[in-house]
Amino acid sequence: MGKTIIVSNRLPVRIERNQEGYRFKASEGGLATGLGSIYKEGNNIWIGWPGAAFEEDSVKGEITAGLARESMKPVFLTPQEVDEYYLGFSNQTLWPAFHYFVQYIRYSEEMWRAYEAANRKFANRILESLEPGDIVWVHDYQLLLVPRMLRQAQPDITIGFFQHIPFPSYEVFRMLPWRRALLDGMLGADYVGFHTYDDMRHFLSSVHRLAGYDYNRNEIQLEDRLVVADSLPMGIDYEKFAQNAVSSPTEERMERYRKSFGATQVVLSVDRLDYSKGIPKRLQAFDLFLEQNPQYQEKVSLLLIVVPSRDAVPSYQELKEEVDQLVGQINSKYGRISWTPIHYFYRSYPLPALSAFYRLSDVAMITPLRDGMNLVCKEYIASRPHKTGVLVLSEMAGSAKELSDALLVNPNDLQAMADTLKKALTMPKEEQRQHIEVMQQSLQKYTIFNWVELFIGNLQWVKSKQHRLDTLQLAPSRQAQLLKEYQKSATRLLLLDYDGTLVPFHIDPLACKPDEELNSLLQELGNDPKNHLVIISGRKADTLGEWLAHLPVKLVAEHGIWTKEKDADWQLNPELVQPEWKEEARKIINFYVDRTPGSFLEEKRHALVWHYRKVEKGLGELRSAELNSHLKHFMEQQRLQVLHGNHVVEVKPNAVNKGTIAQKLHQKLEPDFTLALGDDRTDEDTFASLPETAYTLKVGKGASRARYSVEDYQAVRNLLKSLQDL
Ligand code: UDP
Repeated sequence: MGKTIIVSNRLPVRIERNQEGYRFKASEGGLATGLGSIYKEGNNIWIGWPGAAFEEDSVKGEITAGLARESMKPVFLTPQEVDEYYLGFSNQTLWPAFHYFVQYIRYSEEMWRAYEAANRKFANRILESLEPGDIVWVHDYQLLLVPRMLRQAQPDITIGFFQHIPFPSYEVFRMLPWRRALLDGMLGADYVGFHTYDDMRHFLSSVHRLAGYDYNRNEIQLEDRLVVADSLPMGIDYEKFAQNAVSSPTEERMERYRKSFGATQVVLSVDRLDYSKGIPKRLQAFDLFLEQNPQYQEKVSLLLIVVPSRDAVPSYQELKEEVDQLVGQINSKYGRISWTPIHYFYRSYPLPALSAFYRLSDVAMITPLRDGMNLVCKEYIASRPHKTGVLVLSEMAGSAKELSDALLVNPNDLQAMADTLKKALTMPKEEQRQHIEVMQQSLQKYTIFNWVELFIGNLQWVKSKQHRLDTLQLAPSRQAQLLKEYQKSATRLLLLDYDGTLVPFHIDPLACKPDEELNSLLQELGNDPKNHLVIISGRKADTLGEWLAHLPVKLVAEHGIWTKEKDADWQLNPELVQPEWKEEARKIINFYVDRTPGSFLEEKRHALVWHYRKVEKGLGELRSAELNSHLKHFMEQQRLQVLHGNHVVEVKPNAVNKGTIAQKLHQKLEPDFTLALGDDRTDEDTFASLPETAYTLKVGKGASRARYSVEDYQAVRNLLKSLQDL
């Protein structure tokens, strides 16, 4: 077992200088706390930017040595890199795009290049430390390209990626000119985590529609690897907040603050200065509340903590002015000598002060317009020892998915926010306790430590699943074993796919007639009374019959809709649904035929197939991905199945796939030797349906459920010849 390398833009440390040199102060951020238990163990390390520009080599050396003692390794960035990669592309392109603030997105090729270069710098730093067996865990939107860069250098390593901010809907993500490179970057990881199910869903949809990869539930099948996306909301160090809340310094501070507020109820608001946090809307809602409920004037105060952030970015400077102005307006509109409606602090507080604010406040009003998670609201809940207090929480925060006992509001609805605030201020204590209790229990159960453990555990599980999907080349020794078992068996089931397996793939589907060599091979194998030879294909019954009916084989057409014994008629699979669905599906497919030169619709009796093998490269992939998701959406209401095969998208009733028919044949025959050969996704169903003892062989490259793989149709024929020669 190797070491774990944590990578994030910022190292979890503050570097300060005094007369004796540099001092390193651990940061108290949630992530640092959670990962603290990991990165300090054994040889594990945390790689990231130390947070300031250090230019001289001697200073860099000193910092590197100091950090090494704390299990950290720095990536030094120049002021220009910080400007273009961090403040630029990360915070002025990705941040607004991912938080749905499309009006703030900056499209700059220069900043993109800086982002790429900085990601490369991080990747190189990681590669310097990387050894076989290591796990790399990359964090957040500043480093989206790093997983792929690592994968290209070291194809076998284990990489996890967690995105701490939202992943936007495809409609927004596709606005970015660099969307494909960003997705490919993330897909370098084995396991990609998000805070919520919606983020994960949006990611999968973008992967499918922009990169054309198919997914099944949350598993994405790339050409060479399985990638799993997941939703895993990050928790907090519950005990730390709960204990701090009852410590004597907190109690003492709280008393002091309480005295200054007098008899008013306190509503708390804590966020970084960021347009995604919805601070102006919250202030407007507070204004509306005071206006509509004059009886609350002098009875309630808003404690507004705004933590300075990214003040070099113009949109943040404008926001600061807007907040200042609004606070000024509200305070001058309602304020009295004896009462200030809003106590406004533009600064950051350490935990003891924050803890006292959490204790002190009757209501916490956390109403971001969009937030990946939001930890402040969780910390407030953990800091309520008497289980009183009310949380007013935005539906748009990731944490709203977990904290459904909060009073949830739409942060754009000022009236709803004003009404909810009133409801919060008047909520009976008993009701408060009921809600807080439920939320405390869930936060206690699912802490930051569980989150870390789950992430690493899941990552390792994905890796082991990938290994199970790795197919082994059918080496001579394994082939010898196969031949031996074939020879000594009495009843053999041989399931052979046709296109791509027995004949090469051809651009014209009607030009794949069996040649002489294949005819005689199948004839000979079929003649052996121990063999039950089945050609199991997606092709139409007519074609298959015309080409192969003279041979001693059983034919399965259209993935199992039709079956035919030698010298008998075609039989229809009795489990089919009625074909009313066809008209609608035909309309959808024809829409794609019209827009995609070279593509065509094939009508099968119980299936419709869109072929794009003749379509211009790139366009075919793009359209097929679109059609696939279009049909999948349509399929959800009907009992239909959409298959994205080799240059085809096929839609057909659910009961039919090669796996169901293969399984039936196997159960009926009870063979003591089974061989299944196939090259595309539809054959995966066959492989999966057979017992482990079966010889399942994937033709060609790529991850597969088959036990072994062979190179191409020629290798298949050689294998069949060896069987025939026995
Ligand atoms: N925080 C702090 N001092 C402050 C205000 C906030 O240390 O004065 C911390 C707070 O405890 C929380 C974090 O900053 O852990 C903010 O995290 P959150 O997810 O709520 O928002 P983000 O800033 O990451 O968008």
